[in-house]
Amino acid sequence: MTSKSLIALFALASCLSARVPSPESFFGQRMGSDHLVLDWDKVVAYFRAIEANSDRIRVAELGQSTEGRPFITATIAAPETLQHLDRYLEIQRRLADPRLTPESEAEKLTAEGKTVVLVTCSIHATELASTQTAVEFAYRMLTENTPRIRAILDNTIFLLVPSLNPDGVDIVTRWYRRTLGTPYEGTGPPELYQKYTGHDNNRDWYMFTQKETQLTVAKLHNVWHPQIVYDLHQSEPNAARIFVPPWMDPIEPNIDAILMQESNMIGTAMAADLTAAGHLGVAIHAMYDFWSPSRHYQAFHAGMRILSESASAKLASPITVEPGTLKRDALGYDAQQRSWNFLEPWPGGVWRLRDIVDDQLIAMESCLYQAAIHRAELLRNFYKIGKRQIARKSPWGFVIATDQRDPGATRKLIETLEFGQVEVEPYGGGKLIRMDQPYSGWAKALLERQHYPDMRLYPGGPPERPYDVTAHTLPLLMGVDVYSVDKPPPELHAAHKPGNLTASDSDSWVEINRIWDRGGTVWRNSAGDFSASGGPASTSAGWKQIKRPRIGLYRSFMPNSDEGWTRFVLEQFGFAYASLENKEIQAGGLRRRFDVIIFPDSTVAHMESGYAQGSMPPEYTGGLEAAGAAALREFALAGGTLIFFNRAADYATERLGVAARNVIHGVSNSEYYAPGSLLHARIDPHDPHDPLALGLPNDIAIWSELSPAWETDERVVVRYPDANLLASGWLLGEKYLAGKAAEVDARMGAGHVILFGMRPQYRAQSYQTFKLFFNALLCGGRTQP
Ligand SMILES: [Zn+2]
Repeated sequence: MTSKSLIALFALASCLSARVPSPESFFGQRMGSDHLVLDWDKVVAYFRAIEANSDRIRVAELGQSTEGRPFITATIAAPETLQHLDRYLEIQRRLADPRLTPESEAEKLTAEGKTVVLVTCSIHATELASTQTAVEFAYRMLTENTPRIRAILDNTIFLLVPSLNPDGVDIVTRWYRRTLGTPYEGTGPPELYQKYTGHDNNRDWYMFTQKETQLTVAKLHNVWHPQIVYDLHQSEPNAARIFVPPWMDPIEPNIDAILMQESNMIGTAMAADLTAAGHLGVAIHAMYDFWSPSRHYQAFHAGMRILSESASAKLASPITVEPGTLKRDALGYDAQQRSWNFLEPWPGGVWRLRDIVDDQLIAMESCLYQAAIHRAELLRNFYKIGKRQIARKSPWGFVIATDQRDPGATRKLIETLEFGQVEVEPYGGGKLIRMDQPYSGWAKALLERQHYPDMRLYPGGPPERPYDVTAHTLPLLMGVDVYSVDKPPPELHAAHKPGNLTASDSDSWVEINRIWDRGGTVWRNSAGDFSASGGPASTSAGWKQIKRPRIGLYRSFMPNSDEGWTRFVLEQFGFAYASLENKEIQAGGLRRRFDVIIFPDSTVAHMESGYAQGSMPPEYTGGLEAAGAAALREFALAGGTLIFFNRAADYATERLGVAARNVIHGVSNSEYYAPGSLLHARIDPHDPHDPLALGLPNDIAIWSELSPAWETDERVVVRYPDANLLASGWLLGEKYLAGKAAEVDARMGAGHVILFGMRPQYRAQSYQTFKLFFNALLCGGRTQP
């Protein structure tokens, strides 16, 4: 290219960039201004407007969010990179799978390729700063020509998701505007900010149940194989101003050590850049661990997951943090004290949205700049990590037989693994997952049992709280038999079980709801099999007609992810239900409308009292109170079924008079601790015809997370064994649970109160115990008036 044409090109570029609308001109305010919240359609319109005026960006709609909003991504790079995206996709694909690519070719591709960096914002919608940071940073990438920005443009492909939760942007914005200037300014909305999962939307990244997760994984992670995924969050206001990696222990054992070293490198470089820019309160190696794959998809797919957590204001309203209130006992550091991983404490004072945006702008640029200057090593190591995965020898692989008790759950397990790019091959009558594949660590993490380390705050002291849960063994959650093999297995000879209407099959629940939708009749025998009306089975002995239960689901104004997951699971399996608020329950007369009322996991205080008066607009305050308890007792006495999940069961024993003693009540964390673990339990006494246990094997694994267990004279459905309770994860103090009840069916007048010492619908993952839940719903149908 001649120097003349270069000058012409620069002239064109600057002319183009001059037309890129600034955030201020488009939104009327600078990003991060006090009280600024954004509308999602305006954010989308902004990205479209800058795309129309720059050759450094392409904007794509990947699909629609849960509630139908456009889900967008911006691809930002040098114009000559954007013109050849297909070539870079191909380079990534070939480097990601060393089976396709010999080392000599990989070296050439490394020289040619770009580092792919995916940056994702505001998955938690109340952590709203990073969508605004995304807007301002995109503008800077299109209009600035500093050496750092040029290095990023030339060496990376920057995929920017301005919100992983577009519905949440509007939910929070609507609420903030409504409460602005009132005593409730800056409170969180009294609803989940993602329709089904709320804050749990970043705990969905191995089961992939939600649309936003599916779009991001299928269309970005799995296509682009990013070397870095940087996810921006916010945390409590009185700790560090910003956290970046290194992470804390424990590190999930299947994550490659090269990746960990690289994320330490990128994270500390980000911390150095923040410090060099004069920003205080930067913490590394604190608070956050690297355990649950639900938050670290890319780390099992040869890419880093970088996290930053900024201190929050009150949504878009400034706050004042008194110096003495800064946390002294944050995990890994003291927010008032200088230490190696927290070198310059922030002194306290006013903290506003713009402060968060300022930190995030530096962190974003720093992460991308590291990606740019380390381009060759990152790509070379990316290929090397794939080689190390393929070389995995132990185990040789996993076998999934198809003659499973639950073919529907088995199919779902296989589809879930395949969605995460695990190769599953047919083998004899079953399926085989070999470990000599690029994402063998992902498959292994999800198929094996977790041995979470016994971590204490000090020797002999209380347990160190894991950041999320400690177990994720899908075969145990789903009730699917999977076993590991250390050499290629002999031919499998498993009879194929037809997926017809059988109680053991997850599909049958969908099917019976369809039949009810059509006004049909369903029969069930004492073995748990279903039959539609007119079928041959329904006329023979042992079959009883079952009625469709009329289901109510308690919904507090306090957003509760477990309530959202319950709705999601009911809808996935076709159950009709109505949500019930405090006032509707207090009004009584519930038996006329409902057969079953479900209470998701919640504390008794939240259920009974809800938001305190003065903390939220009056229409959202209060809970069930005495009138609610009276109405619920009346409902059960008249033949209704009340179902309580997990901690909510304390409401039944403490407020409704169910005679069961919660044996972990008052036991300290140091004595008993099950922070999201899978525990062995059994149907006990084993009665194959117990309507609450139909379709389940005798031995099951249940999800225990702050879960009650009982001593009771009421009927026990599920009981813990006398020893060896831990199936996967971490458990302290099993002696408290041994031999105690984990599901109780208590009589109350003509009705039932069913206590679940577990979350049987846990995050839409626990297919095996879904059946305990669904059986309990039918128990309501059983007693229809
Ligand atoms: Zn968050």
